[in-house]
Amino acid sequence: MKKVHNFNAGPSILPRIAIENTAKAVLDLNGIGMSILEISHRSKEFQAIIDEAIALFKEQLSIPAGYQVLFLGGGASMQFCMVPFNFFEKKAAYLETGVWAKKAIKEAKGFGDVNIVASSADKNFTYIPKGYTIPTDVDYFHITTNNTIYGSEIRYDMDSPVPLIADMSSDIFSRPVDVSKYALIYGGAQKNLGPAGATFVIVREDMLGKVTRKIPSMLDYRTHIAEGSMYNTPPCLPIYTILETLRWLKALGGVKVMEEMDKKKAQLLYDAMDNSNIFVGTVAKEDRSLMNICFVMKPEYAQLEEEFMNFSKANGMVGIKGHRSVGGFRASTYNALPIESVQALVDCMKEFEKTKA
Ligand SMILES: *Cc1c(COP(=O)(O)O)cnc(C)c1O
Repeated sequence: MKKVHNFNAGPSILPRIAIENTAKAVLDLNGIGMSILEISHRSKEFQAIIDEAIALFKEQLSIPAGYQVLFLGGGASMQFCMVPFNFFEKKAAYLETGVWAKKAIKEAKGFGDVNIVASSADKNFTYIPKGYTIPTDVDYFHITTNNTIYGSEIRYDMDSPVPLIADMSSDIFSRPVDVSKYALIYGGAQKNLGPAGATFVIVREDMLGKVTRKIPSMLDYRTHIAEGSMYNTPPCLPIYTILETLRWLKALGGVKVMEEMDKKKAQLLYDAMDNSNIFVGTVAKEDRSLMNICFVMKPEYAQLEEEFMNFSKANGMVGIKGHRSVGGFRASTYNALPIESVQALVDCMKEFEKTKA
């Protein structure tokens, strides 16, 4: 296979072993003479897959009793409306830290009064707002822990006087999380966990059934809990790859080990840009993401952007173009990305710089 360094933001790099084992299961699942693509989601074979995936998910995130883990369709974007359907009675609070937070806010506004507690829109979302007070007269407080597009991250579990809800699409399983501080955590699998098509939801059961509205069955978490994520046909193949990713993660030592590796990778790249004369990071240092690392050319070198893009491509870098709303560069350094790829990018930046500055 051609050797590339895959910095895609999502869908993104997955552990090679998870892909190989998925390929095997697509051809013949555990020697049963059928593909995973061909079996009923109600078969004992698939039941064993989803049971193990949920058990490993709970084990590896140390999810306490009282929480349910679901695998649904619809993407994280579906959760932007599913959350208010289930929890929004009169008023909700949101932290506005980027494009995904804004989309969540837009959906919530259809349900009533939305309090945007703080926003970093004034500086194009290059930092995480601080010093705000979470209101107590709201049904919940919603945050986006990792801002995939802008490269800022809330890497700790905050105390909230009201139920805390988090979109962790792009940093789940990159650190130990104190799940007990959250009422609900959700995300699309396609950043750090699996292929596109599955959405994970971790929900505290005692949060449910409190709103007075009638919730459509498919949008009611209780429906999916009662049916073990099989009210309708779940995304079977993505769930299988999630299982394989979680087996890989466990074998390597779990989220603590992931965090150490992610820190090393991020440090390598952030150090390179901090010591560069032509590249510069875009996010406030204390809020920098370990998952999506954004940088630009210093203004006096701005005209070199395209040239570096081509140079990096010629050296095997894939997916480092910044999101269209930010420009510049973004290297996503998810769990499955080897540190050798980050080193290759850093070498590439240094080599380019030598010829320019
Ligand atoms: C990618 C992403 C989403 C959107 O996910 P979909 O599965 O495409 O709906 C939402 N939130 C964050 C933080 C993301 O990174």
